[in-house]
Amino acid sequence: MELSYILNELGEARSEYFNAVSPPIMQTSNFAFDTVAAFREALSDEYSTYLYSRGRNPTLDILCRKLAALDEAEDCLVFNSGAGAIFASVLANVRSGDHIVSVAKPYAWAQHLFEKILPRFEVTVTYVDGRDTGNFEKALQPNTRIIYLESPNSWSFHLQDLGAVAALAKSRGILTICDNSYCTPLYQKPIPLGIDMALQSATKYISGHSDVVAGVLSGSSAMIHRIFESEYLNIGAGTSPMNAWLLIRGLRTLPLRLERISASTPKIVEYLKSHERVEKVVFPFDKEFGQLALAKKQMQGACGLLSFSLKADRLDQIERFCESLRHILMAVSWGGHESLVIPGCVSIQAEEFDPSNSDHRTLRMYVGLEEPEYLIRDLERALSLMDGD
Ligand SMILES: *Cc1c(COP(=O)(O)O)cnc(C)c1O
Repeated sequence: MELSYILNELGEARSEYFNAVSPPIMQTSNFAFDTVAAFREALSDEYSTYLYSRGRNPTLDILCRKLAALDEAEDCLVFNSGAGAIFASVLANVRSGDHIVSVAKPYAWAQHLFEKILPRFEVTVTYVDGRDTGNFEKALQPNTRIIYLESPNSWSFHLQDLGAVAALAKSRGILTICDNSYCTPLYQKPIPLGIDMALQSATKYISGHSDVVAGVLSGSSAMIHRIFESEYLNIGAGTSPMNAWLLIRGLRTLPLRLERISASTPKIVEYLKSHERVEKVVFPFDKEFGQLALAKKQMQGACGLLSFSLKADRLDQIERFCESLRHILMAVSWGGHESLVIPGCVSIQAEEFDPSNSDHRTLRMYVGLEEPEYLIRDLERALSLMDGD
């Protein structure tokens, strides 16, 4: 299916709403029936009808059609956060006594689920360095039910060979789940590579405007139907009609935004690499990236997330760098219009700062939609001010 068709037409039925170009926000909690028979049928099969907006809603359906097509998946569900999509995908596929093999340091709330919640139900996890597919094989146990991936990882940028891991899992009857937030389905499609379920935080590039929190989970119709009937309806974590509409609006410009960001990010990377106060820059499409060949093989593009470490002996130099930025904001998240940084040292106490630990001197940067020269001037200024007077 052509991208332009998916983003502009798929799922839309304009003649049903006055030929409005933009679909209506169907802001309703419930749907009425004319006959008892129709009501009975809807109650018995909520997946196929409009009954109550915790389940299906027409605005949300338009969004789901588009997102599933982008993933080349049979179906998808949209949650009110990426964390909700992670939770449902895992919870729906484990039972007491099961084992999960996960990439090391997955997204923080995946890690919380694996370490704080699932152990209460006797589900265990083994983390592996996913850069080597053999590590997954070594970690498998007879009770391994899920292999959980995140490629590239949004902090380390480590990749997994999705096709190879999927083939290994299939040969053992193990389910694969991949967090695809970094790439979006425009730059990487885990499902055609053999992964069972792809998920992403729609808060990031799908929304694109830093105004919605949402998540997408895609997979086979059978799997999505099963999760809809159980975890999705029970957690009650679907997205609202208003947010679904904002995400449809975000999708209209997704290719343009990614194109823009893909053009400016390498300029920022080159600038940072050339600066004497920058020790190292990590970006999946950089020629010095350790897994460049794999990145080029399975990703059609790299977006705006990168990391760089500063040469600094003291915490105050890093703090002064961050606080001297005038345009690049200091905040969590990414994927919006605005450029951001998160210093690694924000997650340690000031007295724990150790200049020999490069993580403490590393910053994650997100390149937004601004002119690259505007961002470079901002970085230049902050780098020149980091030592104080
Ligand atoms: C943000 C993010 C999530 C979680 O998404 P939310 O929408 O914030 O719940 C999951 N994975 C990755 C890689 C993320 O960056």
